[in-house]
Amino acid sequence: MRYGEGLLEEILRRTDIVQLVGRRVRLSRKGRVFWGCCPFHKEKSPSFKVENERRNYKCFGCGAGGNAFKWLQETEGLSFVEAVERLAGEAGVELPKWTPEDEAREAKRKSLYEIVELACQFFEEQLRARAGGKARTYLASRGLDEEAVKRFRLGFAPDAHAALIERLQAKNIPPDDMVAAGLARAGEGGRPARAGSDAKRITTNDDDASAGGASDGDAIPNAGGASDDVASPNGDDDASPSDDDGRDGPSAPVRA
Ligand code: ZN
Repeated sequence: MRYGEGLLEEILRRTDIVQLVGRRVRLSRKGRVFWGCCPFHKEKSPSFKVENERRNYKCFGCGAGGNAFKWLQETEGLSFVEAVERLAGEAGVELPKWTPEDEAREAKRKSLYEIVELACQFFEEQLRARAGGKARTYLASRGLDEEAVKRFRLGFAPDAHAALIERLQAKNIPPDDMVAAGLARAGEGGRPARAGSDAKRITTNDDDASAGGASDGDAIPNAGGASDDVASPNGDDDASPSDDDGRDGPSAPVRA
C-alpha cells in the first residue's frame, strides 16, 4: 500500500464524514447519527446512515457502505489513491514522498490485483453460464438477488479449475504470478496447477479494505488458495455461507 495504515487512519480521523457526505446527500440528525435517502439506490424514506463516530456511511437498503475514501471512490469515481490525496489535502495531512522501491512494489501488487480481477470476472461469467445454474438457484434460495450478486461480485468456480488457468494463460499471465496471486500452485515442470483446497465458500469484495490496503471494488487476492465452488449448489454439508470452515481471508460470508 502506498500509504501506511496509521496515515490513512489519521486522514479519516480528521475528516468530517457527515460534512463530506452532506455535500451530496441531504442529511438529518437523529442523536449522534445522520440519516438521508441513499444515493446508491432509489428510495423515499431514509435508510442511509452516516456517523462521525464510526467514520462511515451505511445503507440498510442496498448494503452500500464504507469510509470517506470509499465514498469519494463511489460518488466521484476517484481511485483509492486519489481519494486519499484529496482528503489528505482537505485535512491538512502531509503525505510522504514515494520512492522508486515503493513504485516497484506497488506495480507488482497492482499486477496481482489485475490477475485476481481476471479470475473474478471468470467466476462471474461461470455463474451466469449454464454451469452456474445450480449455483444461481442456490443463491436465490438464500435470498440473494441479481443486484446482490453483482454488487458483491459473486461467482461460481466450476470443478474444471483448469479452465481458469487456461483463461489466465490466454491472457499471457505468467504461471509465477498465478501462484503469487494464490490462484494456482506451482505444478510439475513449472506448469501451474490447481491450488488444493476442499473448502466451499462464497467470495465477496472486501468492502472494508480501503483503510488497510486494497482499493475498493477490486477483487481480493485469495491468500488461501484458489477458489473452489464459490457457491456450493450441491447441498454439501459445508455448503452454507454461514458455516465456519475455519479459513480466514478475504473470502467472507455474504453480508446481505
Ligand atoms: Zn442504498
